[in-house]
Amino acid sequence: MTGWVAIVGGGPGDPGLITVKGLQLIRMADVIVYDRLAPKEILAEAKPGAELIYAGKERGRHYMTQDEINKLLAEKAGEGNIVVRLKGGDPFTFGRGEEECAYLIEHGIPCTVVPGVPSYVGAAAYAGIPLAGRWYASSFAVVTGTRAPGSPGRVNLYTVASAVDTVVVLMAAHRVGEVLKEIARARGPGIPAAIVVSATTADQKVYTGPASELAERYPSVESPALVIAGPQVEWREKYWLRRPAPPYY
Ligand code: SAH
Repeated sequence: MTGWVAIVGGGPGDPGLITVKGLQLIRMADVIVYDRLAPKEILAEAKPGAELIYAGKERGRHYMTQDEINKLLAEKAGEGNIVVRLKGGDPFTFGRGEEECAYLIEHGIPCTVVPGVPSYVGAAAYAGIPLAGRWYASSFAVVTGTRAPGSPGRVNLYTVASAVDTVVVLMAAHRVGEVLKEIARARGPGIPAAIVVSATTADQKVYTGPASELAERYPSVESPALVIAGPQVEWREKYWLRRPAPPYY
């Protein structure tokens, strides 16, 4: 009997941010293949005897190649297992969920996708930086700061930053300074900006300031990190940091 694969978004880091459906699948799975950015605490929910396989994935250093991961998923499902492919954030947001699902579909293996809270959505809430709303911003764009070699997609950060109120840049920890300079060029040096590192985890760090100053202070930061720039970054200081925090959050 053929098994099947659920490609599950684990959310940005806080294990509490996985969906109910994602958690149910984790509890059912015979095999869980997980990424570096998937919240590891969730693995404690796996049933006894479930096989847990680390698939790695770090900038420039892949523990397993994408091809190997695709084959592993197909093989484990082919043996009749319920396989969960656990990812960080959302599988269809720069998550390669589509690549894995396409491979499985081509090999006749049932595949489903469960969305997850994307990193920037988690970062916005946990850093107190609303992405859009009628006070500050009517639009936001999320782009990659590193284009994959051979990718047909294109990002003109200057144009994007000029066109929307809030700009979010992922995959740029190693070059946040350059990214911030480009945003400053488009929007002026004083445009409020934030770098959020390890959003929603116990290690979360938030650096804020005018984009050009932030660029000087932080040419690069540790990964994972993302940049959020736009006037609403000021909401954090104006309200969020002044709030009495509830005991549970
Ligand atoms: N599928 C993921 C994105 C994967 S690409 C999602 O939905 O968010 C990897 C990039 O996501 C990282 O380079 C970083 O920019 C961002 N990212 C993922 N987790 C993050 C976190 N906890 N804090 C900050 N950025 C994060």
